Amino acid sequence: MCKKFNGIGASNGIALAKVYILKEEQIIINKSEVKDIDSEIVLVQESIKKAKSDLQNLKKIAEEKLGEEKAAIFEAHASILEDPVMVEEFVALIKEKNYSASKSISEVSNKYIDMFKAMDDQYFKERAADIKDVTERLLRYVLGLQVLDLATISEEVVIVAEDLTPSQTAQLNPAFVKGFACNVGGRTSHAAIMARSLEIPAVLGLKTILSTVKENDLIAINGSNGEVELNPSDKNVWQELALKYIKEKEELKKMKNQPTLTKDGYDKFILEANIGSPKDVDSVLENGAEGIGLFRSEFLYMDNDHFPTEEEQFKSYKEVVEKMNGKLVVIRTLDIGGDKKLSYFNFPNEMNPFLGYRAIRFTLDRKDIFKDQIRALLRASAFGPLGIMFPMIATVDEFLAAKKFTLDCKEELINEGQKVGAHLEIGMMVEIPAAAVNAENFAKHADFFSIGTNDLIQYSMAADRMSENVAYLYQPYNPSILNLVKMTIDGGHKHKRWVGMCGEMAGEPDALPLLMGLGLDAYSMSATSILKARSIMSKLTLKETQELSSKALKCENTEEVLKLVNDLMKNK
Ligand code: PEP
Ligand code: MG
Repeated sequence: MCKKFNGIGASNGIALAKVYILKEEQIIINKSEVKDIDSEIVLVQESIKKAKSDLQNLKKIAEEKLGEEKAAIFEAHASILEDPVMVEEFVALIKEKNYSASKSISEVSNKYIDMFKAMDDQYFKERAADIKDVTERLLRYVLGLQVLDLATISEEVVIVAEDLTPSQTAQLNPAFVKGFACNVGGRTSHAAIMARSLEIPAVLGLKTILSTVKENDLIAINGSNGEVELNPSDKNVWQELALKYIKEKEELKKMKNQPTLTKDGYDKFILEANIGSPKDVDSVLENGAEGIGLFRSEFLYMDNDHFPTEEEQFKSYKEVVEKMNGKLVVIRTLDIGGDKKLSYFNFPNEMNPFLGYRAIRFTLDRKDIFKDQIRALLRASAFGPLGIMFPMIATVDEFLAAKKFTLDCKEELINEGQKVGAHLEIGMMVEIPAAAVNAENFAKHADFFSIGTNDLIQYSMAADRMSENVAYLYQPYNPSILNLVKMTIDGGHKHKRWVGMCGEMAGEPDALPLLMGLGLDAYSMSATSILKARSIMSKLTLKETQELSSKALKCENTEEVLKLVNDLMKNK
């Protein structure tokens, strides 16, 4: 039956395909004694075979998508299942204690997980997560539960889920996953950000979609306006919408090799891209970006089973800097915590993780981890212009501590005879209201600012960016936010620093005229938004954007600001 939903358009584009229901059933261990010991042992053996075959499959897919090095993790996981000691222990508990297959696997694996976790050596500590991952897969087979591997989806689908974690999103293959629709999340949740970089349409915050869909349903989603139709009454309407979207995209390609110019010839605005991995650079170049304004380095950490080494990081950063061929690349240091977790590191349990131990607070506390990254970044700067950017800076002292640590590492590298580039900038994200208000003081020390509106808005409005219940408070056009943006830009310009923005607001068509008027220098966005931004800028004069923003700063609310923008843009 046809049913319509309205959610939050999180990644542009139209998708129409069969649903793929992502619902992981809970693992419940069978604790009762078993009588038929032999069949329990066979169950363990058969399940090991199935799990191993999955891992071989995943390895093949990962080799094609991510390269051999990343694929090696699946080889390592398969070898856990080949460990004769562990497998013998599974069998022994079934034979000697009449344990069920699930109980014996869970007892043995928990013993090894605890043992590895307790080791001093970081490498062995991290193996605990691998054992957990592999034995959970095994338990799912033993218990007859569905085993979901998003990377192995091989027919066209739209995923319907409660939520997608960033690492699940990273597994998606856009050739088959045509879109996704989730109960929770909003425009600035990391699943949304990754969907945009993979160019997969997404609608989030749908609240009840997961409990409504059934196997074999057809679903249509509009990632631009958040409309979703289950079993659409007229498929043609959706097919036409999809064609229109593709046509518009084709049309914008004309802007690819054009300079970024306002209508009256101002040529100092720069359009840049946000990326999460070196793989994204091709799309950045394809979309005519003039630099990279934000490389979210944490995805290198999340897409891994250990803290990436200095060497591993150096390779990734160097690859990006080289591919960008002389254009500035701004790499943000590890911004972990909040909704971004690591499988191999236990963060403390906090009531408000977004306000807790994360980003620069974590790296300044864990200099061992920070040092590998800073050294890798400094070494990569020898291959082209590079900006190092610290996330979540709240106080001048934090910035000074991070900057000093970076300069000490630089000196150490030079003493070792290593090369560090001549064009190296050290800047910061402005995403905490305290930093925006104090921008002028920060500008004495920072080479540049990049405004992170995703967090700046969440902290200014006290509204969790992950919660669809308070999504209405994500208000980039609220005059309070515009005034904080203005304070940041003015503070930076007082000390002749360039000021950019890398939060999602920078790529929103309605925000561009306001930001131009406020004097923002660099606009960093999903690569797929760049050509549209260039086209919008080419239709506006500086003077009219300045008049617009000075009126907007004095407005009372979002609606008044948007009306001013719409009045200006309607004849463009
Ligand atoms: C931001 O907060 O605006 C930002 C760019 O960083 P992230 O979305 O990764 O928190
Ligand atoms: Mg942020």
